[in-house]
Amino acid sequence: MTQIKEYKCHFSYCTHNEKVKETEAILIKGKPNKRYHKDCYQLYLQSQKDKEDLDKLCKYLSKKYFDNQAVTTSMVRRLQAIRNDVKFIKTGDKIKFKKNEGNNYKIILYTIYYYSEIIFRALKGKNFDDYNKKLGYILAITRDKIPKIKEQIKLKKREKRQLENLGNNLLIKKDKSTNKINNNNKKDKISNNIKDLW
Ligand SMILES: [Zn+2]
Repeated sequence: MTQIKEYKCHFSYCTHNEKVKETEAILIKGKPNKRYHKDCYQLYLQSQKDKEDLDKLCKYLSKKYFDNQAVTTSMVRRLQAIRNDVKFIKTGDKIKFKKNEGNNYKIILYTIYYYSEIIFRALKGKNFDDYNKKLGYILAITRDKIPKIKEQIKLKKREKRQLENLGNNLLIKKDKSTNKINNNNKKDKISNNIKDLW
């Protein structure tokens, strides 16, 4: 009987104790070939998406507040700290990818965007010749406002769910009274209408 080959999982934050068996691994061919546990591969894809979001956020900040200056390590680190809900990240700290924890970069970007008037007003009249001081100021406001944005998102989601439930309930009532079939079609129509609202 031939033994099944085992490989080290390529995901940097793999938490499995066992290597991945050849027969179960997700194989990405290349030089070298990379093999992942199934769940690690999903996380790996999400962490790549996270990196892209971070990149977009850095570019947005640079463009809007720093005359398109090159993105600095300091900016990246400070944003990673907000993302991971920690005070700061030191040189050499290995940042773990946490899927559902902290504040994702989209929320951070949205917060900066939503409160840009407040940020601009706060910056006005202050003389920031120091890049890091200015950045710190912007991000302090951002950190402060994130919970408000998160709350708004939560409310919107709840409203949407309620509306969907209401739509479904009305549909059931109507179905009962008319005894009509074809309710799948109707359901689609209602959920499409609701979708248009957002
Ligand atoms: Zn793994």
